[in-house]
Amino acid sequence: MSNSFVKSQAAFEKAQQVLVGGVNSPVRAFAAVGGVPPFIQSASGSHIIDIDGNDYVDYVSGYGPAILGHAHPDVLAAITDAVQRGTNYGAPTEIETRLAETIVQALDSVEMVRFVSSGTEAVMSAVRLARGVTGRTKIIKCIGCYHGHADSLLVAAGSGATTLGVPSSPGVPAGATADTLLVEYNSLSDLQAIFDAHGGEIAAVLTEPIAGNMGVIPPAEGYLQGIRALCDQHGALLILDEVMTGFRVSYGCAQSLYGVRPDITTLGKIIGGGMPVGAVCGPRSILSQLSPAGPIYQAGTLSGNPIAMAAGLVTLAALRSGEFYEHLEERSAALAAGLKQAADQAGLADKTCFNRVGSMLCLFFTPGPVDNYTSATASDLNAFRTYFHEMLSRGVYMAPSQFETMFVSISHSADDIAKTIEAASKALAAVKAMG
Ligand SMILES: *Cc1c(COP(=O)(O)O)cnc(C)c1O
Repeated sequence: MSNSFVKSQAAFEKAQQVLVGGVNSPVRAFAAVGGVPPFIQSASGSHIIDIDGNDYVDYVSGYGPAILGHAHPDVLAAITDAVQRGTNYGAPTEIETRLAETIVQALDSVEMVRFVSSGTEAVMSAVRLARGVTGRTKIIKCIGCYHGHADSLLVAAGSGATTLGVPSSPGVPAGATADTLLVEYNSLSDLQAIFDAHGGEIAAVLTEPIAGNMGVIPPAEGYLQGIRALCDQHGALLILDEVMTGFRVSYGCAQSLYGVRPDITTLGKIIGGGMPVGAVCGPRSILSQLSPAGPIYQAGTLSGNPIAMAAGLVTLAALRSGEFYEHLEERSAALAAGLKQAADQAGLADKTCFNRVGSMLCLFFTPGPVDNYTSATASDLNAFRTYFHEMLSRGVYMAPSQFETMFVSISHSADDIAKTIEAASKALAAVKAMG
């Protein structure tokens, strides 16, 4: 419990004068856990260092992209090489084709790609594409799934099983979400009911294959196949938002892990190797309806940015080398087993629930099972807050919210994992002591 945050405290106060909440993305402000967010000086491999000199084992991984760890030498070399030749041309480059070819080879469901600059943009464009292709307007999204901050998708909470979309932020007009229908994640009966009522009006079902923005929630057996079948039956498209899971859970993404074929896939995070990127992907018949080949408009000044393409290309190459995913699984399984044992030893076995898919992990402070938004939000957020700060003070940096994912990277060493488990033993004992 020896960390000093003196410099971060000063930096945070200064930041708050000119940056809203002192940050450029809300969760970074630590609102859910309280306290001062460490301001970061640098990161390398599995470690991140703040401006007070505190050194943490990092499981935020830049919210997902850093699957190779930070400042990976190949990624740095690719970026350094690319940047010498200019940072943005607003004209086609060969490297865009190479990254697109790489994605096409990785995913059976994909023949063409449109690059954008963020996951938000990718999903927003995918929804427009689905509406344009089908000539329908309604989309179905799962409660608690996050698809970026586009107006029509900023509908998170709902009461009851199936509700009409109500905006969850001021500034989002009711009209923008009126065509967004909500279902509980993992509930095929919810979905069936919506299709029964609105079948011919549904352009697409949009979902994260593995929910990763309400903690980690794997799809129930047959859930994704059930969505696929309902979409087929009603002529709706299936959009799998793999911005987080893409190249995270396997080289073929979650769709290969679960054997489900989406009509449109959105990617981001890992495919940019830590640079801003997103992608809308799918078969030629659908993608070719985007401008300029087709009538559905989509554009971007920095889309297909050469630095981001270069970083993404070497990142995906690293994921193909050796037995990358087997090694990542070993590390993730070891961490998960250790954390679970720590919870058991702290006497919290009946107060916690541990979910994991590959290198995506989440310890919920509720007995579980956690399989949807309702069960996730049953978590004891006070317990999480204590756990979070106890971990941070012991040099383990996790996302400052119960409803985020812990990401293991290939750079997490056996020492990092041992240190994390040891910190968790003490942190969970402190949670237990709260009663
Ligand atoms: C992160 C994320 C997004 C948004 O991506 P940004 O790059 O933050 O705009 C969309 N969908 C999912 C599933 C995500 O995890």
